Amino acid sequence: LDPEKRNYVRRNVHNAIFSQVPVTPIRSPTLLAVSDDALRNVLNVRPKVTQDSNFVDFINGVFRPENSLTYAHRYGGHQFGSWADQLGDGRANLLGERISFDGKRWEYQLKGSGRTPYSRDGDGRAVLRSSIREFLCSEAMHYLDVPTSRAAAIIVSEDTVMRDQFYDGHPQREKVAIVLRLAESWFRIGSLEILAKGKEIDNLRQLIDFIIENHFKSIDLKDENKYIIFFNEVVNNTAYTIAKWTSIGFAHGVCNTDNFSLLGLTIDYGPFGFLDAYNPGWTPNTSDDEYRYAFNKQAFVGSFNLLKLREALLPLIPHEKLPSVRNILNGFYPLYTRYFNKLYCQKLALIKCEKEDEHIINQLLKMMEGKSADFTMTFRQLSEIRLNIHEQIDIPKTAWALKHLSSHNQFDAWTRNWMKRLEESGLNLNEAKQIMNRVNPRYILRNWISQEAIEMADRGDFSRVRLILDILKNPYKLQKPAEDLKYANRPPKWAKGLKVSCSS
Ligand code: AMP
Ligand code: MG
Ligand code: MG
Repeated sequence: LDPEKRNYVRRNVHNAIFSQVPVTPIRSPTLLAVSDDALRNVLNVRPKVTQDSNFVDFINGVFRPENSLTYAHRYGGHQFGSWADQLGDGRANLLGERISFDGKRWEYQLKGSGRTPYSRDGDGRAVLRSSIREFLCSEAMHYLDVPTSRAAAIIVSEDTVMRDQFYDGHPQREKVAIVLRLAESWFRIGSLEILAKGKEIDNLRQLIDFIIENHFKSIDLKDENKYIIFFNEVVNNTAYTIAKWTSIGFAHGVCNTDNFSLLGLTIDYGPFGFLDAYNPGWTPNTSDDEYRYAFNKQAFVGSFNLLKLREALLPLIPHEKLPSVRNILNGFYPLYTRYFNKLYCQKLALIKCEKEDEHIINQLLKMMEGKSADFTMTFRQLSEIRLNIHEQIDIPKTAWALKHLSSHNQFDAWTRNWMKRLEESGLNLNEAKQIMNRVNPRYILRNWISQEAIEMADRGDFSRVRLILDILKNPYKLQKPAEDLKYANRPPKWAKGLKVSCSS
């Protein structure tokens, strides 16, 4: 520690899971937005707490219980397929944990709170742009029923740091922010990898036992197969979460093993994105030249990451048990496919979810790809199809995405086939609509929507961030006409050229 600058010098840390690191607060912090729901239901505090004069200081890491310590976590990871060695919390501090009213344990953390031994060449800060994106998206994902970390509050400073967004030629100064974020656990695949790579087997065992004890209550710590069962659970949770991502058109953007939670939570919101037009090979990350983290490769990447988790667990697994670990990993794709089919069947109200229905799903996706149909609104508006008195397919004028898809030459045949399946399962169109509208969102955090909110917040107007959070709280429910007209409509033309950099 350089006491003058309160700056940590980068270094390789050994034989540790956490480093004790003080927070470096930002100057003249202003409260930008809070998530009432995260405050109430996760932190167990009344949203009125935001009026307390200490609240901003709390998010800034200044107001804390006396003598409490803050930590940065040491982890490693595979980035873009290669072992990157030590990474760790380079700009985050763990503050502590709290039990929510439903008995869940939540770890709360500041992101953007200064340098740590893990900062490498970074400045320990997070810019306003990426902090707003993380704040809004973690909450949006929660309301979309995706396993995720949460965000309770965001503060912003007038202080700036340099960031190069790579695609526009020159680095720029951007304001810094801090997000108070929460997760049941922040441990990642990379948390175990660094211990296994460093042959710190006692630490490895201690950490996994801690995670099992606190987060995998169904596993008996005395069970000799506990690490194998643990692996099985992580494989299952990861398969489910990635299938969930796929079902809502979400691409994470940086699926490195250090960004993959051991609980299967969506963590580390960086250059993520939601599909506008359906293009399965799309990546939101403009720095991902090889499209490694494209939307349709996430299951593949998930299995790669789990392979790395398996490698990290090997020191704890007896030789004769290795085949069963391999079998668990081989079970990832079938599991993922099962979740995928189940979720997509729900999207189309195909409640039997048989082989024939999978065919219907695939045909629809093919048509959507051919027509570059809007992913979110096509599924949403399918529930608005009716048959008129002449038994012709009738699409309301306002169903712009579906109208566009209906010019596909197989659309009629597909629709009749789909309706036949609904009828066979005893559903009328109204009943189907109810099922579909519970799982097909109408409002998602499209890049252009965050972009507008970010630009306004940068000018000191936080109202849009708050409005978008409000809308995304009810992604399935029709909102006020003016808001619906804007946020459930075609993306504006400028949205097409919008780029998201991993610089944050
Ligand atoms: P990410 O790609 O966001 O998952 O970050 C990868 C690693 O870089 C993590 O160890 C981060 O803590 C670290 N990192 C990213 N940005 C910064 C920054 N501005 N200062 C310090 N560390 C950073
Ligand atoms: Mg990360
Ligand atoms: Mg990140």
